[in-house]
Amino acid sequence: MKDYIFEWQKNFKESDAKIDSILDKHTELSNDELDQIAKRETKIAYEKINCLDCANCCKSAPTNLEPHEIKKIASYLGISKKNFESQYLINDFDGQQILNKIPCPFLNDDNTCKIYEVRPQTCSSYPHTDKKGFRKLGNYHKKNLSFCPITYFVVSEMFKKIKSV
Ligand code: SF4
Ligand code: SF4
Repeated sequence: MKDYIFEWQKNFKESDAKIDSILDKHTELSNDELDQIAKRETKIAYEKINCLDCANCCKSAPTNLEPHEIKKIASYLGISKKNFESQYLINDFDGQQILNKIPCPFLNDDNTCKIYEVRPQTCSSYPHTDKKGFRKLGNYHKKNLSFCPITYFVVSEMFKKIKSV
């Protein structure tokens, strides 16, 4: 499974052109058809790539938290919401609460997550390649290609399938 991470490290720079081709407005595939392929390939990607060999999302992207998640995580850690906010959160430019450190303060040395059972939804559903609206999220997926092997795998496999349609 580390082979896929190696392949991503070697080739991700060529993927921009692949995603442009997939997202091309002139492609024969409808948004729904594209979503179905993306969903299928995401499932396969998770069978082939172990996120514990990577954790790049926890090491490179800021994580935002919803108010109900802040309460839940603070209670899981056994501290007050106020303490949690002062120890771990800052406001980003549009006023959303985000974790104050990158890499994430809850990332363990072995790439596991200290708060896995109650991790924010943005973490559990990352990198969103199986989410409805693959075409609409195209630029987001494009950005993620530089650090997410799952996104790289999904885009590469979609490219192969769409070329052969
Ligand atoms: S979701 Fe992507 S970036 Fe995050 S750990 Fe898995 S492969 Fe790595
Ligand atoms: S909360 Fe857990 S899953 Fe989310 S970024 Fe931090 S270490 Fe990663």
